[in-house]
Amino acid sequence: MAGEAKLHKTAEADMDALVLFCMEILESVPDIVSALKLISERTSDFFELDDFVYVEHDGDKIDILYQWSAVDKHDFAEKMCESGVYDWKRLMHLARPDGSIACTKNDYEKAQMGDSRAALVVLSSSVRDFTGSIVFTDRKISRDWDSIRSTLVRIANQIFYKLRMLKKEEEIQKAWDRKLNYDSLTELAVYNKLIMEVSEYIERSGVGKLACIYADFSGFQYYNEVYGYEMGDNILKRFAKTLKERYGMDSLFSRLSSDNFAGFVRGWEFEELVSDYKQLATSFTEECNKEYPLTNLVLATGIYEVCEQDSSVAAMIDNANEARKKCKEQTAETMVRIYTEDLRQELENVRMINSNILKGLKNKEFHAYLQPKVSLKSGKIEGAEALVRWIRQDGTRVMPDQFINIAEQNGYITKIDFAVLEQVLEYLEAAADDGEEVVPVSVNFSRRNNEFEDFVPHVLERLDAHNVSHELIEAEVTESMYMADLSKVDNNMRKLREQGVEVSVDDFGSGYSSLNILAKVSADTVKLDRMFLNNANKDERGLTVIQYLTKMLKRLGFTVIAEGVETEEQLKWMRMADCDLVQGYYYAKPMSIPEFRVFLKDFNATARSMDSE
Ligand code: C2E
Ligand code: MG
Ligand code: MG
Repeated sequence: MAGEAKLHKTAEADMDALVLFCMEILESVPDIVSALKLISERTSDFFELDDFVYVEHDGDKIDILYQWSAVDKHDFAEKMCESGVYDWKRLMHLARPDGSIACTKNDYEKAQMGDSRAALVVLSSSVRDFTGSIVFTDRKISRDWDSIRSTLVRIANQIFYKLRMLKKEEEIQKAWDRKLNYDSLTELAVYNKLIMEVSEYIERSGVGKLACIYADFSGFQYYNEVYGYEMGDNILKRFAKTLKERYGMDSLFSRLSSDNFAGFVRGWEFEELVSDYKQLATSFTEECNKEYPLTNLVLATGIYEVCEQDSSVAAMIDNANEARKKCKEQTAETMVRIYTEDLRQELENVRMINSNILKGLKNKEFHAYLQPKVSLKSGKIEGAEALVRWIRQDGTRVMPDQFINIAEQNGYITKIDFAVLEQVLEYLEAAADDGEEVVPVSVNFSRRNNEFEDFVPHVLERLDAHNVSHELIEAEVTESMYMADLSKVDNNMRKLREQGVEVSVDDFGSGYSSLNILAKVSADTVKLDRMFLNNANKDERGLTVIQYLTKMLKRLGFTVIAEGVETEEQLKWMRMADCDLVQGYYYAKPMSIPEFRVFLKDFNATARSMDSE
């Protein structure tokens, strides 16, 4: 008989063994779900129970309660309400996941339900935000739980203890997780977390409608200085909150560094998102500037529409950031730029150049071309400018305006400049050996050369290595370069001049404060920017400017060269202005060194013969 068997099994020693077994399982099985399954099987078997369930729920704090439910649950519930023990709301609250309704033994008796056909005992525990129940069920008979209750309580307590420990570990883990993965100021994800989450999202759900936003406050340092760092922090927190509130669950944002934010928004039509974000950014900065009128807070943002082909989440953020960098060209208070196909091509070009410059240098792909400078007095070529041409191995030509800026940024420009100088020196050495006529050649030196202590000695060392007289080399430095670091550049140019190397100020007039600098710079020659000729083309006043400027420069002791002379008429103006030399397509475009050797010989021979006529 089942009753006898139960009696037999409930011997105390057996029950102790069962509790011990449960403890061992909880200790040795790392996965709690598997551990509970084993305990459940063994306990249910031992007590011939129908169910052993652990449920986590938001129930009340109940220590131990007995629970009865009638077979007909509806009837049971109605009786409970009719008897006034519970109202419906309370009943619903007490409903358990298995559909039964929990109540105390006392309440059950109050409802005068008589003998029930199903019975359970429920043990509950509450640890801070965690509440759970362990439900032991016997549906077949109404049994006397009291005799086995203490064993069930012991087992349940062991389980609750284990669960409590796990919960604690989980909480510690979560706290660590927050510390590691979230920015303490804005509570936004950190960069790595953003990358990980978005990568996982894309892997799970595909790209779909996904856009990346990169925002940067410009002038934030100034804001901090004026209003203090605490206020600065408040603005950053406020911006993070604004983003979270606006894009909520469909977004994940991160603060990458002090005032730089990046994030992803999903599910929006791209154009709608852009216009929505523009509004958000405008009203945000407007509000801030109204509240803090001493500064003008500007938010520069780039937005990138993610596509299937994108290689990585980091690359998507880079794209949005590249678009953001383009904001600098605008002046509006809120600046939002989109990553476009044009920008993609531009960056592709930059990448191509960056990754090929060094190889190009090794393969000697950078060639010095020479453009003659013609004296207006003698009509002869009296100088030349070396201009670099990048001729790649497949024959494609890359012009300086496509790579000089990039080379200045990555620093390879100094190697390019010296590669050009070397070719010029080789030419001058060879021409002298052959007894050919030579003219001084100017070489363009980037401002970056001035970062090296040995720049000047290095130039002189190369000249001497080729036995080239110092007077045959001229250094061209741009006016803007002088402006950027006057004392350092001027110091170097002075040293070069002391050694007989001439110095010319290139692109004069293209920058600002030009006239001011003339009183200070150490130079022999000033090259008038092509802009002057363009203006002279337009009206009389432009011409007057060139004439008086040339006069002034000559009074200051400079030789004056006009750059970019293309037409007979322009040549005439420069003559009228009493300019010393002209350089431009009118005479010749920059040409390879072998071409120049021939050109120089022929041109000057013709000039001489005309002179003697
Ligand atoms: P730059 O030093 O002012 O050189 C003059 C530029 O004007 C050259 O352009 C030349 O080809 C061009 N040019 C000469 N005559 C005319 C003309 O009649 N009409 C027009 N429209 N243009 C004319 P390029 O060779 O493209 O060089 C552009 C700039 O790149 C140079 O301006 C210089 O700043 C830089 N650059 C060129 N080679 C080197 C180099 O070896 N090192 C460094 N650091 N910069 C270089
Ligand atoms: Mg130049
Ligand atoms: Mg120039």
